Amino acid sequence: MFSEAPVRDEVIEELAGLLQNSENIVVLTGAGMSTESGIPDFRSDSGLWQDDELMQAMSLNYLRYFPERFWPKFKHVFLRPEYLQAQPNSGHLALAKLEGMGKRIQVFTQNVDGLHGVAGNTQVFELHGNLGKAKCPVCHTPYVLDHILATDVPRCTWENQKGALCGHVLDPDTVLFGQDVRHYGRAQLAIAKADLMLVLGTSLTVDPVAELPHFAIEQTRVQLVIVNLEPTYCDKWARLVIRGKVAEVVSQAVTHIVRVRKGVWSDPSSARRPAQNAQ
Ligand code: NAD
Repeated sequence: MFSEAPVRDEVIEELAGLLQNSENIVVLTGAGMSTESGIPDFRSDSGLWQDDELMQAMSLNYLRYFPERFWPKFKHVFLRPEYLQAQPNSGHLALAKLEGMGKRIQVFTQNVDGLHGVAGNTQVFELHGNLGKAKCPVCHTPYVLDHILATDVPRCTWENQKGALCGHVLDPDTVLFGQDVRHYGRAQLAIAKADLMLVLGTSLTVDPVAELPHFAIEQTRVQLVIVNLEPTYCDKWARLVIRGKVAEVVSQAVTHIVRVRKGVWSDPSSARRPAQNAQ
């Protein structure tokens, strides 16, 4: 179990200072970004990923050989009510607010839930795709969630001019085992040019995304901040490590920036609240 004690005000203020002083911010997010939206991460006890057979079925090979068996399994893993009903949490919204303040925010996410885009960030790069989209592997017609949900095994409904139905089983947009992650080169470049890299809610155990913080570590100019409930292998290189809940931490830091900008803390009588815990 990990401590879920509130993060000390000084730590939030340090993060707020780093955000305030950075113009070009790269954010890398993982499943921990969305647990406060009700979507469990893969380390939860839902048991889905302890099921080896299910895990193996989430592969390109399985989709190609057994398309009709693939889709019900895929839906069992990803098109669950927790995903379909989830809304952006205060952390997603705070990242969108930072962009609204004029900062350049590029979000590279391992999540497939689409919540960064719903929150309002405009530069979101979904490294593992999006569960709400699919495409015909033959004629490349794209489809959206309603079509995917309408049948157990979604198929292409495109017809050619002679009325012949394509009818092929669709490919999910979500990156399967055996497929390359997307936007990796863009992420490397973005990190190399950034002032600040935020790594939020990821165990940094899934390659090659787990390697991305190294592009910040190698550039002494790029400050690295990690917010996660448990340690990651990159903690020792980070400028700031915060052991706390992402949504709480990021939203509090952005709220602090807003208050400072409005001058709330400039009045000594309303200044700093007492620290609540030792970090
Ligand atoms: P992960 O499950 O390996 O790690 C999540 C990390 O977040 C853990 O270290 C956990 O301690 C931490 N965490 C959980 N809740 C947190 C919170 N509120 N605040 C701070 N930290 C928190 O997930 P990963 O690193 O993203 O990699 C695994 C794969 O999981 C990815 O490929 C991703 O596509 C997939 N996934 C996505 C979703 C989603 O789209 N929301 C959900 C589950 C898994």
